[in-house]
Amino acid sequence: MKISQLFQQKKAVFSLEVFPPKKNGTIDAIYRTLDSVRDLKPDYVSVTYGAGGNPADDSTCRIARAIKEDYGLIPLAHLTCLNSDKAQIYATLDELEQAGIENVLALRGDKNPDRPPKGEFKYASELIRTIQERGGFDVAAACYPEGHPDSPTLEADIRHLKEKVDAGASHLVTQLFFDNEDYYNFLYKLREAGIQTPVQAGIMPVTNKSQIERMVSLCGASIPKRLVRILSRYGHNPAAMMDAGIAYATEQIIDLLSNGAHGIHLYTMNNPEVARRISGSIGSIVHCINEQED
Ligand code: FAD
Repeated sequence: MKISQLFQQKKAVFSLEVFPPKKNGTIDAIYRTLDSVRDLKPDYVSVTYGAGGNPADDSTCRIARAIKEDYGLIPLAHLTCLNSDKAQIYATLDELEQAGIENVLALRGDKNPDRPPKGEFKYASELIRTIQERGGFDVAAACYPEGHPDSPTLEADIRHLKEKVDAGASHLVTQLFFDNEDYYNFLYKLREAGIQTPVQAGIMPVTNKSQIERMVSLCGASIPKRLVRILSRYGHNPAAMMDAGIAYATEQIIDLLSNGAHGIHLYTMNNPEVARRISGSIGSIVHCINEQED
């Protein structure tokens, strides 16, 4: 099923993100996450591609296929373009199509000083255009409520986001953020810029102090004072940090859904307990929203 249909049918779309294990990691963590949330029926599950500018292999496609065939869920395969040429992109799209994957999240990818870009693609909008020219996929794109770190201003970033939507992105997923006001202000600016596509809020539960420090330095998201206090109070105690991080993310999600967010994309970090606890505590809320009349 194409994800754009989901957005037509539902007021709130709830999805999860998993990532292929690093070289020596085990794929079991992903399957444990999927096992533990299968009965919660996320609307779709996305699988990252060579994140952090690292080389990609075929594991995104393999995991996406398993999501569909073994778990009966809708997969969204991420695909980056900075380190690929057109022939490689076409080959990957063929592989995804053969695996029955119908949805792609089209990305530029992070710059990696050790891997010079191939040069055929500079921006995600070019990848979106290439996928649309080929046909066969629903295309989603990334967006940044606080602006992309490379962008001089949020306004400039939104102008380039409009290029992605005009090229054919039918839904957007945000970078993680910790202050819902950033999302609301961003949505307002998108509507002003003429972007009407659904914007799913990307939420990452903070369950580990050093992990979040690493993520924030990579993506530039700011940490509100309230969360700084939580991190300094509980960061040294894994169990307390897990409880506090899940409570913070749950509160964020309930507020977003109460204010009409069109969906939540949960960055699970392949942690089945996080996926399970958050999905469990918001399941009835998502259901309630989708039951409501206009
Ligand atoms: P783009 O949309 O191309 O934007 C990149 C920068 O270029 C922005 O600053 C933008 O303003 C600017 N820009 C765009 N067009 C133009 C133009 N015409 N002229 C001048 N400037 C322009 N990375 C991975 O490696 N693998 C993943 O699986 C992955 N999944 C992600 C999922 C989500 C939901 C998000 C938010 C990010 C993900 N990333 C992933 C990270 C992403 O690859 C990086 O944030 C990357 O730096 C930008 O990708 P993009 O697709 O947003 O780029």
